[in-house]
Amino acid sequence: MYEKERQLLYEAHLTLEKYGLVAYTSGNVSLKINDKVLIKPSGVPYSSLKPSDMVLVDLSGKVIDGNMKPSVDAATHLYLYRNIEWAKSIIHTHSTFATTFAVLEKSIPVLCTAHADVFGEEIPLAEYAPVGSEAIGKAVIKVIGKSGTVLLRKHGVIVVGKSLDDAVKKAVFLEEVAKMSYFALSNQRVEPLDPSEVDRLNTQYHTKYGQAGNS
Ligand SMILES: [Zn+2]
Repeated sequence: MYEKERQLLYEAHLTLEKYGLVAYTSGNVSLKINDKVLIKPSGVPYSSLKPSDMVLVDLSGKVIDGNMKPSVDAATHLYLYRNIEWAKSIIHTHSTFATTFAVLEKSIPVLCTAHADVFGEEIPLAEYAPVGSEAIGKAVIKVIGKSGTVLLRKHGVIVVGKSLDDAVKKAVFLEEVAKMSYFALSNQRVEPLDPSEVDRLNTQYHTKYGQAGNS
């Protein structure tokens, strides 16, 4: 069932690994298909992960298809799908520079045009919540904005996408922006971009950048 989606979800995991956003078994991606969700199995290393390993669950977490347990973060993903209408794909990583901000308990200010383009706002920081229940999802909902991207205090990041590609793109750009911001803030005091310029860039990027039909 859902062979094409399994392959795409598998490839999204490999993309995260290619960009160095995940290590060994950490991180996970899910894809919403109507009222079901495909998600990475728990504790399977990227080196042995297969498309057929992806676990199909319903929105309450009941396994519909799959021989393995779903990711321990499944409850977080499912809570967000139940509460964000436009959510079609969700990514969780501990990518180093974004997680460094989460560990420092700091949001990421908008310091450069790429941040304004892709996210259009500060990346907010959620309150601390334990793994394995709906608590992380509830903490994310409290602070999530139009970027669909949130830092999990002392933990990692959650990216909510309008599609699988949108989520992967934001996860990759988030780490790039976090890296640049970390080095900039480490060296000297820097001023954020003017909020009106952030809005202008973000609107321009989402309406004029790229080829017609792309998001
Ligand atoms: Zn985690």
